[in-house]
Amino acid sequence: MSVFKFFQMNIQTNPFEVNGIRFTPAARPIVVICIDGSADEYLDATLLHDRMPNLKTMALHGYRGMARGALPSFTNVNNSSIVTGVSPAVHGISGNFFYDAAKDQEVMMNSSEYLRADTILAAAANAGRKVGVVTAKEKLRDILSYKLNGIAFSAEKANLTKQETHGIENAEQILGIPTPAIYSADASLFVLRAGVKLIEKGMADFLYLSLTDYMQHTYAQEAEESLAFYEAMDAEFGKLLQLGAIVGATADHGMNAKVKADGTPHVLFVETMLTEKFGPGFRVICPITDPYVKHHGALGSYVVVHVTDKSKIEEVKKWLSLQPGITEVYDQEAAVRILEQPADRIGDLVVLSGRDVVVGRTPAHHDLKALDGTLRSHGGRYEEMVPFIISHPLTNQYRMRAGGDPRNFDVFDFTINGTQK
Ligand SMILES: [Zn+2]
Repeated sequence: MSVFKFFQMNIQTNPFEVNGIRFTPAARPIVVICIDGSADEYLDATLLHDRMPNLKTMALHGYRGMARGALPSFTNVNNSSIVTGVSPAVHGISGNFFYDAAKDQEVMMNSSEYLRADTILAAAANAGRKVGVVTAKEKLRDILSYKLNGIAFSAEKANLTKQETHGIENAEQILGIPTPAIYSADASLFVLRAGVKLIEKGMADFLYLSLTDYMQHTYAQEAEESLAFYEAMDAEFGKLLQLGAIVGATADHGMNAKVKADGTPHVLFVETMLTEKFGPGFRVICPITDPYVKHHGALGSYVVVHVTDKSKIEEVKKWLSLQPGITEVYDQEAAVRILEQPADRIGDLVVLSGRDVVVGRTPAHHDLKALDGTLRSHGGRYEEMVPFIISHPLTNQYRMRAGGDPRNFDVFDFTINGTQK
């Protein structure tokens, strides 16, 4: 009996429902991959070099297109959307950071304590699937493993996993893959390799594999380092397909160079600009801020502004929207509708900047010297459209949906319900 047949016999196909979406999984391994920071250009460049044969097969046999991510186009926002199937307005995670006006505190939002929706992962586990979640960065594990009865660990801490807390005892040893450095290609490749091993060993049949965007922050798509990285990823896609998996792949956000013509970072310090123009009374929050700032200096293309004097909001909004490099400014009501934000976790204004521009707070809040020589980042509208790949042919209904306005957080729905069985 082949490995694949063996798993088919043991895989649960009970339907389940979560956040209003019904899932009817096939008796095959289901694997959803979030290729962190993968603008579609990375796939195109590597395909052009004939270095992603398995992606090519998936695109020809299944589906390859684009989908719209959630805003802000940040990692934890979109990972939360992908695993819940809903927008930030519903799941509540609108960044790494927010200002709690009631408590007058700037609060980290990267724990499941702030999540307002159940996950597809936990629901699949409750329906009898063997769920495995592997993330590159430890910071995401808490949200992804919310109420999960299954395996969940990070590449970063793979040598420290415990059966009681991670569903697997010393993952590094059991899977036979060394714990990688977090700022490396291996941090992402570890995640894919761990996914392959979990299926091979019969430990999981429903996987979410979330990579890290260190490589995309550091290299443009034509760099040999990037081509080699995508080629190595593709080898793991091939192994997943060999194991009979249905694979859905998307990204949390794209990535763009945020520099001037001379290559130096193109930054607008919004709190400084506002204070110079209107005087004190502004607090700018950069929701990209997190403990891992080496590759982006806490600079992205999306900030929120808290305005002390509420009577000035309209005037400030108008002025900001006219500044070069700023592309969109919304008041709270518009941000809730157009940007799908949770009203209580954004400020009075939401500000987005151009494809080559980032927005920050004040020069003192950002350490530009910590960057690796250049600035590639995300967070705004220009990193919103991401690749959307399904390994198997779509049903007519889902093919129609793919031609409309599919979202990256529909990826579980497409992978599970949208493929021809
Ligand atoms: Zn990301």
